[in-house]
Parts: sequence; C-alpha cells; structure tokens
Amino acid sequence: SANVDTIKEKTLAIIKPDGVNGNYVDVIKKTILGSSFSITQEMQLQLNVNTVKSFYAEHASKSFFSGLVQYMTSGPVVIMVLEKENAIADWRALIGPTDANIAKVTHPKSVRAFCGLDLQRNCVHGSDSPQSAAREISFFFEKSSSAIVSQHDEL
Ligand code: ADP
Ligand code: MG
Repeated sequence: SANVDTIKEKTLAIIKPDGVNGNYVDVIKKTILGSSFSITQEMQLQLNVNTVKSFYAEHASKSFFSGLVQYMTSGPVVIMVLEKENAIADWRALIGPTDANIAKVTHPKSVRAFCGLDLQRNCVHGSDSPQSAAREISFFFEKSSSAIVSQHDEL
C-alpha cells in the first residue's frame, strides 16, 4: 500500500575503460535511468595502479590480476552510485554474467551483452553484496578516501 516505505539501497557501478572508449556512457546511463535507478553520485576518473590494486584486493592472488590492473588503468572510467529498492541485486542482474561472450548467449539483453567484449573487457562493474557496496561506495566517495583518489586520479 502507499503506507509501506520502500527501502532504498545503493550500489556502485563503474563504466570500465572499454565502455568509455567505445562511447557507451550515454546508452548505459539511459539503461540505468530507464530501469528505475537514480544516479546519486557520478565522477570520471583515470584510475592509477595502486587504486585498482586496492579496489580489487580480493582478486590479488588470481592469475588474471595483473591483466585486470592493466585493463582498469588503460583509460578513464565513469563511477556512479545507483539508488533504488534492491539496487545491488537488480544492477547485477541488469549487467549480466562476468564473461561478455557468455552474456551474449544467456542474457542477450544485459549490459555486458551489448557493450562487453570478452571475459576481461566486460564494460561495467557492479557491487556483489551489501558489504561490497558499502565498501566500494566509501572507497570512491567518502571524504577520507576520495582525498586519496583526487591526489592521484581525478581528471
Ligand atoms: P564481476 O565483475 O562479475 O564481479 P569478478 O569479481 O569475478 O567479476 O572479477 C572482477 C573483474 O575481473 C571482472 O569483471 C573481469 O573484468 C575480470 N576477470 C574476472 N575473471 C577473469 C578471468 N578469468 N580472466 C580475465 N579477467 C577476468
Ligand atoms: Mg566482483
């Protein structure tokens, strides 16, 4: 009913270097806004190696880590906070599976299907849990850490 408050949730979205370079920023933002998210914060950055290593620390031991760092520092990114009810799961569903080539087959309407290139260059990021969303939003948008970002990365 009208008296039931919807509980809004925030998640972190990143348009990765292949997405910015491929001119997908506007179509991705249209998709976001057309799917009932609000974009409450947004900035464009050129990430540096240390920022990416810290952001993706959970993957530090993976074989793809150095390639991931190289990819994520290869050009500017657009970082956004998205807000709606169930934002975290809904944004993950909208972007589709990690491997863009799989997304094209199994989730052809997903963001990674229409703008991603392969397993690495999958055009967008989405927080995978409430804990990740809180960490990732403060990583880029809280004063204490955006001070670090702005020294090294901000365009
Ligand atoms: P997601 O972004 O779907 O949460 P992960 O957290 O597992 O995926 O991985 C982070 C990012 O690292 C992926 O989005 C992708 O860019 C890259 N990546 C993941 N797995 C691989 C892999 N096996 N080979 C190359 N790059 C990968
Ligand atoms: Mg992940």
